[in-house]
Amino acid sequence: MKCFYHPEHDAVAMCKSCSRGLCFECAADVPPGVACRGKCEADVAALDLVIQRSKTAYQKAGAAHRRNALGMLIMGLLFVGFGSLLLILSPDSSGILFVLLGCVILLWAFFSHRSGRQISEVDYRSDAGASPTGGPARPVGNSAVTEGPPSVS
Ligand SMILES: [Zn+2]
Ligand SMILES: [Zn+2]
Repeated sequence: MKCFYHPEHDAVAMCKSCSRGLCFECAADVPPGVACRGKCEADVAALDLVIQRSKTAYQKAGAAHRRNALGMLIMGLLFVGFGSLLLILSPDSSGILFVLLGCVILLWAFFSHRSGRQISEVDYRSDAGASPTGGPARPVGNSAVTEGPPSVS
């Protein structure tokens, strides 16, 4: 690929905003991306901001799901406990309704917890994918090999 602005130069990077090839002169570092110098820098910065925001929002959603699940778990247990107590005290009371309601809440808590965990897992996976993995992890340790034992006497 050639630089979009200098067809005679090889591209060393790609603008995160407009996907044009950029040479050393044209590539502006906007961590974690690269932008056309003096052209797309603001765009890429804004793009990164949006990505960051949605990422934290996603993490928060996962945490909120799990918090909700915990609250519902407690509420469900309370309903079941209260309903059981009612049933024990007077079997013909509406205790069974509380028990059923408690079961529904417990089920709800279970699904909420599960979706919260899925959100966190997806998030975790995308984080792992961002880090360099699976590359040829061969260290530059040629020096260590050539460094033989110092003349055994
Ligand atoms: Zn650009
Ligand atoms: Zn260029």
